[in-house]
Amino acid sequence: MSNNLSAPIKGVLNKLSLRDLDIKGKKLFIRADFNVPLDDDLNVTDDSRIRSTLPTINYAVDEGARIILASHLGRPKGKVEKRYSLASVAKRLQRLVKKKVTFLPDCVGPEVEDAVAGMSDGDIILLENLRFHPEEEKNDEEFSKKLSKLADYFINDAFGAAHRTHTSTVGIAKFLPSAAGFLLQKEIEYLKGVVDNPVRPFVAILGGAKVSGKLGVLENLENKVDKVIVGGGMAYTFMKAKGYETGDSIVENDMLDFARNVEKKLKSKGIKFYLPVDCVIAQSIETGAETKIVPVQEIPAGWRALDIGPASVKLFTVALSNAKTILWNGPMGVFEIDAFSRGTFAVAHAVADAYALTIVGGGDTDLAVVRSGVSESMSFISTGGGAALQLLEGKDLPGLAALTDK
Ligand code: AMP
Repeated sequence: MSNNLSAPIKGVLNKLSLRDLDIKGKKLFIRADFNVPLDDDLNVTDDSRIRSTLPTINYAVDEGARIILASHLGRPKGKVEKRYSLASVAKRLQRLVKKKVTFLPDCVGPEVEDAVAGMSDGDIILLENLRFHPEEEKNDEEFSKKLSKLADYFINDAFGAAHRTHTSTVGIAKFLPSAAGFLLQKEIEYLKGVVDNPVRPFVAILGGAKVSGKLGVLENLENKVDKVIVGGGMAYTFMKAKGYETGDSIVENDMLDFARNVEKKLKSKGIKFYLPVDCVIAQSIETGAETKIVPVQEIPAGWRALDIGPASVKLFTVALSNAKTILWNGPMGVFEIDAFSRGTFAVAHAVADAYALTIVGGGDTDLAVVRSGVSESMSFISTGGGAALQLLEGKDLPGLAALTDK
């Protein structure tokens, strides 16, 4: 089933976009998020982050720009560490763009300056990990200037790092005309444009471990959604707030009042609020643990709820059936373990089958959707965990705010 309904998402981005610039023959410093997982032999094990920047890179190549790519990888804490090198990313990128990618052993210094000076139109350079320099995470002014001297324009396409105030996401924008790349633009259009102006009914599905992690999202969505579905570990704080026994399920005792109030407030606004009615329980979170399916009111002492049960899947599926926009952030259970993954995967299928514009909010949820095999059926899957959450909380992203106004 295709659910690629196109929504009118116009005018959300009030910053320059890559398409607004005349880039022929110009040097672009493109901040990408190439923070990809590597195996022990330093091979890239998942290149989706590299792929998501390809529209920007390919457009820049086709327009005859000179492309200087920069990214962080991991947390090398300001020191050179081979296991955090972007060398493997350069190789994978070269295969994906089907043209030479010159990898440089640093991101500043004479060797970099010489290589940049020798570039021709359409050439691609990838700089070494920005975080090999401690100045990167300090948003250092001198380091910003050094990076900015390499280029004519700064393009931020690193949505996954846009909630950070670092040199390559914020500082550099002070010294160059700065625009959003296509990935950053798309993320804003969906996570801000669609969420702020959804086609109704708009249903939000929230899950994951803790209520505290989704508190800001719940508060922001309060005025936007028609239905809220809560699953995952966070549901049991709501259960306890109702006075149910929750056994050893994950519960945040300091969030009980918040949970009570949020549920009350949503209902008073006419927003439908759904919690699981049954759950898969076990005594420990491990493969091979004995499991049972019980109503949520009957979790015995010593047992913990680790997934939603089949009745909850039915309830949630029906709740989703008339949705025109669905936002999903957070798994329904400990999907990393097979025995507790069915609820999350079933919800992934229900979302994929809905005739709705479907937005997956990044982080763990995007992995869950990939494992469910339905990622192609989603309208949009965010590439940023923290940055996506921050947008869904209705907050600004420093990496976006720093760009040049339209
Ligand atoms: P978050 O980062 O808050 O979205 O949480 C994602 C994590 O929540 C995943 O790693 C899940 O394993 C975990 N999770 C989901 N449901 C439960 C649950 N019922 N009990 C404990 N952890 C859970």
